[in-house]
Amino acid sequence: MPLVAREFRLRRRPVGMPTGDDFESATRELPALGPGQLRVKNLFLSVDPYMRGRMTDAKSYVPPFELGAPLEGGAVGQVEESHHPGFAEGDVVLSMMGWRDRFVSEGKGLTKLDPRLAPLPAFLGTLGMPGLTAYAGLLDVGALKDGETVLVSGAAGAVGSVVCQIAKAKGCKVVGVMGSDEKGRWLLENGCADQVINYRTTPKLRPAIQAAAPDGIDLTFENVGGDHLEAALACSKVFGRIVICGLISSYNTTAAPPGPSNFREILVKRLRVQGLIVTDHARRQPDFLRDMMGWIQAGKMKWTETIIEGLERMPEAFIGLFDGKNLGKMVVKLA
Ligand code: NDP
Repeated sequence: MPLVAREFRLRRRPVGMPTGDDFESATRELPALGPGQLRVKNLFLSVDPYMRGRMTDAKSYVPPFELGAPLEGGAVGQVEESHHPGFAEGDVVLSMMGWRDRFVSEGKGLTKLDPRLAPLPAFLGTLGMPGLTAYAGLLDVGALKDGETVLVSGAAGAVGSVVCQIAKAKGCKVVGVMGSDEKGRWLLENGCADQVINYRTTPKLRPAIQAAAPDGIDLTFENVGGDHLEAALACSKVFGRIVICGLISSYNTTAAPPGPSNFREILVKRLRVQGLIVTDHARRQPDFLRDMMGWIQAGKMKWTETIIEGLERMPEAFIGLFDGKNLGKMVVKLA
């Protein structure tokens, strides 16, 4: 009996907020393994905001998803059977073969993981791509200096929560902005931030940030854009820096979002605003893992995940990112 894999495909390109109808589930017969091939059973799948960009046909730094083809994304799985000399049954691997429960591979693009280092979902979050984004964004693009005042939007998410804690580990004062009191409590209780601001219940961000950091912000790590970015420009110190990591508030807009109305702050305050794409920083992976393991062992790096169970809930988990349904990394666990 051939093995059948289940997968999700994009039925059509979402317009505005994605809905379940934009996706379709399908099955695929897996071939018997040939020489040099292995089969992986996925255990944890990642959903990430960048996937929304790949669902449009706009040119970007990664090619669009193809309609009718299996979607891709980060996945942690276990080798079920191997005819490949480099992989043995039971090995745990990281791949980009997400949105499906099983796949056959020739080994290309698979990274073996050491499951003794951390629970497996962490390799999709704090120890994975979001963690490296935080690390390279803050230290390389942002050129963080010890003791600075740092503003982080999307502070309780996968990237943001790591940004906050690296900054704290460097002796910085951290102001985190997030969308619920529960998220704010988690940040404060875990020593990730000195001050938190719930943007959903705070009438105006700018005075709230000014109250939290009266001397101004040295470095902003921007995950959201829109009014968050306007507030960051307004609250930056002279010669402040802003790392543009994400602009999630505009990922589902159907019209071009207006630029920041206070763009002139960049001129007047001589701000440095720089974009960040994590794949530019792949060479930092060994430094990142070394430093992260050090911070984890020193009790300076905590994380949590929002785990949704079942492949059939992939679209729901993905859409949930845009409703703030996740505290920490959003992960789907397969049975
Ligand atoms: P998160 O884990 O932070 O999940 C997304 C969060 O964004 C939600 O939980 C929600 O939190 C917040 N959010 C969603 N919609 C809005 C909105 N309209 N306004 C304000 N907040 C919103 O995701 P990641 O950590 O994976 O990603 C964070 C950001 O980093 C994203 O913008 C992403 O695109 C970007 N990114 C960029 C990379 C790069 O290379 N440049 C690499 C990886 C991520 P809340 O409850 O606080 O609203």
